[in-house]
Amino acid sequence: MAEIVSGKQVAAAYREELKAKVLTLKDEGIKPALTVILIGDNPASHSYVKGKQKACQEVGIVSNLIVKSDSITEEELLQLIDEQNNDESVHGILVQLPLPKHINELKVIERISPYKDVDGFHPISVGRLLTGQDTFVPCTPQGILELVKRQSFEISGKHVVVIGRSNIVGKPVSQLFLQQHATVTICHSRTKNLKEITLQADILIAAVGKAHMIDGSYIKQGAFVIDVGVNRLNNGSLTGDIDFDSAVEKASYITPVPGGVGPMTITMLLANTVKAAETLHTEKIS
Ligand code: NDP
Repeated sequence: MAEIVSGKQVAAAYREELKAKVLTLKDEGIKPALTVILIGDNPASHSYVKGKQKACQEVGIVSNLIVKSDSITEEELLQLIDEQNNDESVHGILVQLPLPKHINELKVIERISPYKDVDGFHPISVGRLLTGQDTFVPCTPQGILELVKRQSFEISGKHVVVIGRSNIVGKPVSQLFLQQHATVTICHSRTKNLKEITLQADILIAAVGKAHMIDGSYIKQGAFVIDVGVNRLNNGSLTGDIDFDSAVEKASYITPVPGGVGPMTITMLLANTVKAAETLHTEKIS
């Protein structure tokens, strides 16, 4: 029977550490600040942004929210980002995705200063991650690695299987574990014989978006199972990509949904904002 890894608990401990860092920065006259830009009235986006603002307040990060209607033009949004790039009191910038169809997401991401790219989606951040340099790492992958490390689960030499190859989860999480000297296999919708591969995983990361797709028969005895998926069932409740009841019998550690990867994701956004404030401060005094 697996140990259930509470992302809530790990996140709470991590946020205490961040609070202390924020206080130190404030003593040096720096008030870490995050600007979130929200376009349109997508209820899920509004709810995510609310969660991010609340988390900022909890650790003492200033959170600026800019809300614009989805009639905003691409050029107006780019100008808004320029203003935030040039504002010295702002350390991190996040544009909540998805954006309305008439706006080119990649263009918007590329406009954010790589110094303020707390989501870690800018191609410069992605390139730095790939080449093993210090950078802003996307929040969900960073949160996943932290969850595994804090259980003192050995990563080096282990086989990590990632299901999903998105730019925000699958690809960056694969890079992070590769850097930790794991052997990494990435699976996706065209992968053949998925079960044969997942049964080799010492660490299995499911980031697909299909409720209960992976049951216990896909899991090697003793594996560390990380469920990234967030799927809403007809009854309104949230569930992961892993069939928890059968997986818990095979795994040695498992993350629940909700309360697993989710709280870690927001916490890493806070961590990246603190890192941005520290970095910009260091560059200014050096
Ligand atoms: P995407 O839809 O961008 O990617 C899903 C991936 O799953 C794709 O690479 C796709 O393959 C793959 N896939 C789809 N069907 C199968 C299949 N049958 N077998 C194997 N692979 C398959 O999703 P995201 O990466 O953005 O998100 C994944 C899940 O994680 C979602 O449920 C999302 O809500 C959740 N999420 C949770 C976060 C959190 O903080 N807890 C943060 C971010 C995401 P292909 O590339 O071939 O299409």
